[in-house]
Amino acid sequence: EGERLYLGFDFGTSGARFAIIDKDGAIRAEAKREYPLFVQLLILRFLFVLSRKNGESRDWVRSWKETLFSLLEDVPLDIRKHVVAISIDGTSATTLIVDSYTGEPLWRPFLYNESCSDALPVVKSIAPPNHTVCTGSSTLCKLVSWWNHVGSDKKPALLLHQADWLLWLLHGKLGVTDYNNALKASFNKSITVGYDPEVDSYPSWLVCQPYYHLLPSVLAPGTPIACLKEEVGNKYGFQKDCVVCTGTTDSIAAFLAARASQPGKAVTSLGSTLAIKLLSNTRIEDSRFGVYSHRLDDKWLVGGASNTGGAILRQLFTDNQLEKLSEQINPSQPSPLDYYPLPKAGERFPVADPNLAPRLHPRPENDVEYLHGILESIARIEAKAYELLKELGATQVEEVFTAGGGAKNEKWIKIRERVLGLPVSRANQTEAAYGAALLAKKADQQNIPS
Ligand code: ADP
Repeated sequence: EGERLYLGFDFGTSGARFAIIDKDGAIRAEAKREYPLFVQLLILRFLFVLSRKNGESRDWVRSWKETLFSLLEDVPLDIRKHVVAISIDGTSATTLIVDSYTGEPLWRPFLYNESCSDALPVVKSIAPPNHTVCTGSSTLCKLVSWWNHVGSDKKPALLLHQADWLLWLLHGKLGVTDYNNALKASFNKSITVGYDPEVDSYPSWLVCQPYYHLLPSVLAPGTPIACLKEEVGNKYGFQKDCVVCTGTTDSIAAFLAARASQPGKAVTSLGSTLAIKLLSNTRIEDSRFGVYSHRLDDKWLVGGASNTGGAILRQLFTDNQLEKLSEQINPSQPSPLDYYPLPKAGERFPVADPNLAPRLHPRPENDVEYLHGILESIARIEAKAYELLKELGATQVEEVFTAGGGAKNEKWIKIRERVLGLPVSRANQTEAAYGAALLAKKADQQNIPS
């Protein structure tokens, strides 16, 4: 028998990484690679590129594929045979249209942030008002754009998300996705096919469309799909009953990494912006605030993002200054300074006001006091954000883990504990690849569905 290890891949925007964990969640190996540069060669694809405004000449599909197999080679030889399950997360709304027999892409991929606004009028005419799919970068807009572009001469095709396609390279069973990728956001965020997580199927307004048969079937993240393809297992020295399972999106994988797995546990990400995610027993949506919910088994991952955060800190201080000045802050002392730090006018959550002006005055002479005021003001916005989620019906927050560049600031953590009135700590793990490995671990307890 021997040890059981779990392999998770994260495919981000500029590169990919993996993490291998054991049953206790300890990391046994990790590695990362930048995507190599390949350029599109096929003339057909080239014409398609020319026909689109934001033409993209990189051969992303080849880059992802090569990176996946290079990373498999990076897995230390002695542990390969102990890997019993594999999962992958990818950037949400990165979409491929593939041949439904060979699995090979029929077109270059539609990238996560690419807008297919040509399809927007059609999508708006079939979807409910304000539905998530009603923005140009939604997966559905990408599908409809392709469908209309290709016209009547269509090969049998399938839609897959980035993670689905990469997983297919490993298991060979076409046409499967997970409900995080299929949904991404249930309302008002840019990125979804239109899968409705509460009724467990695609909505009827989508089922009656001529391209409905292109949509993949949907399983929970971390569900076994099939065993690793024999040729892959043999080539790289993985065991033949190593199971490949459904993945998720990159941001959900990052949340899973923090292991905030009880309702009331939350992760605040202090990067350029302030993003919060809370595990809730109830699903909430509010398009005014850009608040939406992802399903996670029998619970909901509720989230929202404020424009405040590290971006403004970076405009005012270097990271080195931040560290030095923070050391001198007394976090048990409340700051009387009341700011609303924003890099430019406009806020959505927890205040929905597109014209909200940044407030960073009066500026005290002492920079320690100034920084204290800013950190404390951002903490108040964070508190207000969690309060708003509760008002909208989410489970009350009980404990906050922290990710992102601001997480290393111990003084800020103390300030936030005082302002939030909750235990706050730095998340032990924040890598999406670690979250994907946890999904692989989850799949190890289950049978492959027939
Ligand atoms: P993103 O990935 O969103 O660009 P990161 O998670 O890398 O951001 O975090 C970078 C941010 O962290 C920067 O805006 C920077 O100002 C902030 N930051 C870096 N060091 C500190 C610190 N010691 N205290 C607070 N914020 C910090």
